[in-house]
Amino acid sequence: MDQIECVVIGAGVVGLAVARALAARGREVIVLEAADAIGTSTSSRNSEVIHAGLYYPRGSLKAALCVRGREMLYEYCASRNVAHSRCGKLLVATAPAQIAQLDSILARGKENGVFDLTRISASEALSLEPALECVAAVYSPQTGIVDSHQLMLALQGDAERDGAVVALKSPVEAIDATANGFVIRTGGDAPTEIRAACLINSAGLHATALAKRIRGLDPRHIPPLYLARGNYFSVSGRVPFSRLIYPMPNEAGLGVHLTIDLGGRARFGPDVEWIKSIDYDVDPQRAESFYAQIRSYWPGLADGALQPAYAGIRPKLSGPGEPAADFVIQGSAAHGVRGLVNLFGIESPGLTASLAIAQRVCEVSGRT
Ligand SMILES: Cc1cc2nc3c(=O)[nH]c(=O)nc-3n(C[C@H](O)[C@H](O)[C@H](O)COP(=O)(O)OP(=O)(O)OC[C@H]3O[C@@H](n4cnc5c(N)ncnc54)[C@H](O)[C@@H]3O)c2cc1C
Repeated sequence: MDQIECVVIGAGVVGLAVARALAARGREVIVLEAADAIGTSTSSRNSEVIHAGLYYPRGSLKAALCVRGREMLYEYCASRNVAHSRCGKLLVATAPAQIAQLDSILARGKENGVFDLTRISASEALSLEPALECVAAVYSPQTGIVDSHQLMLALQGDAERDGAVVALKSPVEAIDATANGFVIRTGGDAPTEIRAACLINSAGLHATALAKRIRGLDPRHIPPLYLARGNYFSVSGRVPFSRLIYPMPNEAGLGVHLTIDLGGRARFGPDVEWIKSIDYDVDPQRAESFYAQIRSYWPGLADGALQPAYAGIRPKLSGPGEPAADFVIQGSAAHGVRGLVNLFGIESPGLTASLAIAQRVCEVSGRT
């Protein structure tokens, strides 16, 4: 049986960032990934936005790790030549009734340490984005976009340079937590058993199911999981915007926003569709509600312009109508299993926060 210090389960952006951070601290690391490539799940099915940190409750992990992670990410992208752009965003109120919400997001952003937000009038917003319709806006200059694939390749490269190994097609099937560490069994083409002192469960949508397969972990520490699909529609050709445009957030998401990727392609989404099992099909019928939502801030959207694009699924820890849950980064102080860190509910802003989450995981696992 192979023996290693740290096993990270999942080669999404968070698992790769964790592997990089552990390897940089001189730890021996293997990443076990079920798929045949890195980052094929939520990490490649999102908006690729580097969030400033406006929306999350003060004192939450989401707020702290987003703000810290954003700065770490900009620095990292610059140092490793990962394509990104600090393009800025406008958060828009499209009716007078939304102004109180706009102001409360502005206040929350400042409480979270996002100090360079500016409240602007409709005419100031129009001078920045002439195709926009709104009654007031907040300008966030720190919001940006990143090429998530390049980011993950850079993280993998750093981790491997420092000795980590990424093992693809290695689905973890069972784990025993023993007094001497973990015995981890993988399936796939070449089933194997690995013994490790430290286990990081960064399996995204599967993290709760995997935690239930850890013999020795009390199931009461495993939160319920709710799946919320976010569908995207694309628009062919250029859109008349150069910044990201966000409407007011709703109960489970940030609202159907406009993002423009580094190739200049526009997409709108994600909406919120509660689902029971993992399924990435976008129902073309949902376009109807997209037209209405987008036209509230871009009345010039032409009929027939939207095409179904792709979907991502949020691993939510709160269900429909419940207040949004925070990230859960659970070490032995929470569940009593030495060496185990479970990452639950790593939805947005997990991409932005990935480097800060990795730092936090090192602290929680005692590997600083
Ligand atoms: C619609 C949507 C939009 C978003 N937009 C943004 C955004 O603009 N900005 C932002 O900051 N964040 C955004 N996010 C959040 C961000 O994408 C996620 O937080 C982040 O990608 C999570 O990364 P991860 O590594 O935890 O999970 P994943 O990317 O899901 O990786 C988990 C990996 O674990 C592997 N795995 C699962 N089970 C096993 C097993 N048993 N054995 C081995 N491997 C296993 C999977 O194959 C997968 O590769 C968005 C999320 C969604 C859904």
